[in-house]
Amino acid sequence: MAAKGFNAYKMAQEQFDRIADKLELYEGTRELLRTPMREYHFTVPVKMDDGKVKVFQGYRIQHNDARGPCKGGIRFHPQETADTVRALSMWMTWKCAVADIPLGGGKGGVICDPHDLSEREQERLCRGWIRQIVKNIGPVEDIPAPDVMTTAQHMLWMMDEYEHIAGGKYPGAITGKPVGHGGSLGRTEATGYGVVFILRESLKELDIDISDTTAMIQGFGNVAQHAAELYIEYGGKVLGVSCWDQEDSKAYSYIRKNGIDLEELRGITNRFGSVDKEKAEELGYERLPGDDWIAQEANILIPAALENAITGDNVDWIKPSVKLIVSGANGPITPEAMDVLEGKDIMVIPDFLANAGGVVCSYFEQVQNNTNYYWPKEEVLGKLDDKMTSAFYGVMDLAKRKNIPIQAAAYMIAISRVVDACRMRGWI
Ligand code: NAD
Repeated sequence: MAAKGFNAYKMAQEQFDRIADKLELYEGTRELLRTPMREYHFTVPVKMDDGKVKVFQGYRIQHNDARGPCKGGIRFHPQETADTVRALSMWMTWKCAVADIPLGGGKGGVICDPHDLSEREQERLCRGWIRQIVKNIGPVEDIPAPDVMTTAQHMLWMMDEYEHIAGGKYPGAITGKPVGHGGSLGRTEATGYGVVFILRESLKELDIDISDTTAMIQGFGNVAQHAAELYIEYGGKVLGVSCWDQEDSKAYSYIRKNGIDLEELRGITNRFGSVDKEKAEELGYERLPGDDWIAQEANILIPAALENAITGDNVDWIKPSVKLIVSGANGPITPEAMDVLEGKDIMVIPDFLANAGGVVCSYFEQVQNNTNYYWPKEEVLGKLDDKMTSAFYGVMDLAKRKNIPIQAAAYMIAISRVVDACRMRGWI
C-alpha cells in the first residue's frame, strides 16, 4: 500500500542487499533473489449487480520456489500496487525459510475496495481472479491464502472455482479456508498467537516478567486482536490500539491508561478492524491521532496494521519505557527507522520471523488436507508454538554468536537457506 514516497519493493530489495553484502553473495545469486522469478498481471472482468461490467487489476507474483511451492496471501486493497505485491512475495520467501517450512514465497492482490462490493460481486471477483491465474497456481505450484481484507469465505469461493476447473477435489490448493470446509482449527488465531509466542520468548531473553508489562498495538484486525488476546491471557496489559476510520479516511489511536477490555472493544469494532469512535469515547477511551500509539509509555510496541508504520519521522517519538518491538504486520519498520532502533536499548523482532505463525499454520492446513485427517486445535497451536519457538532460538543463537542485530541474523538464516536450495538444484 503506497504511502506517499514509500516503496515497499525498494525497501525489500534494500534489506536484501544489506544481507547479500554480509553473506558475500555472487552477482548472479543476488540478481536471482532480489527479483521475483515470475509475475502475472491480469485484468478481472466482473459483472456487477447493476448489470454493468467493471474491470479490476489483479496480480500474482512468485518470488522464489527453490524450497517448495510458492505460498502467500491475496490482498484486496484500493492502494495495492505491483511493487507492494513484489515486496510481499519476497518477504514470504524469507518467512517460510526462517520458519523452516518447505515452501517458497508468493503473493497476490486485486486493486479494489471490498467495502464497495456486494457479497455476490465479491464472489464473482474471487472466481474471476482464479480463472485468470488457474494455470499457474495449485497445490504443487503456488498456494494462495487470505491477507488484508480477504477472508475464509473468499478462499472457499476461490477453492471451489479452482476445483470446478481442475475437475477434482484439491483442498490443498488454497489455505485459510473455513473450518469444516478444509480449513484448520487455529488458523484464525495463528498469526497473532505466533507473534505472542515470540514476544513471550523475547521477554524471557530480556529477563522481564510478562505480567509486569504493558503494550500498544497498531491495528485491530485479525492479527492485532489475536495478539492482544493471548498477550492478555499471559498477564500483559494492552493500553490501546490504533486503527483506520473509514468515515474520516484516517487512523486514530484509542487509549485507556488502565488497559483495554478486549471483548468490549471487539464489540464496537467492525469486520474490517475499525473501532466505532463515538462508542469508544463513551467507554472512556481517549481518541488521539493515528500515529500516537508509537509515543505512549508502554514496554512493548506491536505494529500489526500495514507497512511503513515506524519511519525516520516518528521513530524518535518512542519512549525509553519501550524495551521490545514485535512486528505483526509485514514491513512496518523502514530501514531508516531500523538504523535508529539498532542504536537504542530496544529488542526488535523482525516481521518475517514474528508473523510467520500464519504461514506455518497454513502449511499445517495443507498437511491436514493432504492426509484428509484434521487435528484438534490444541495440537495445531502446540505444533505452532514449537515451530515459532525453535525459529526464534535459531535466530537468537546466531545473533549472539556473531554479535549482530536480530533482524540481520534472521535474514542471514533465511537467505542462506534459500541460496542453499538454489545451489543444490543447480540454479546458481
Ligand atoms: P486486517 O485487515 O484484519 O486488519 C488491518 C488493521 O489495520 C485494521 O484494524 C485497520 O483498521 C488497521 N489499519 C489500516 N490502516 C491503518 C493505519 N494507517 N493506521 C492504523 N491502523 C490501520 O489485516 P490483518 O490480517 O490483521 O493483517 C495485518 C498485517 O499483518 C498486514 O501487514 C498483513 O500483511 C500482516 N499479516 C497478516 C497475516 C494473517 O494471517 N492475517 C499473516 C502474516 C502477516
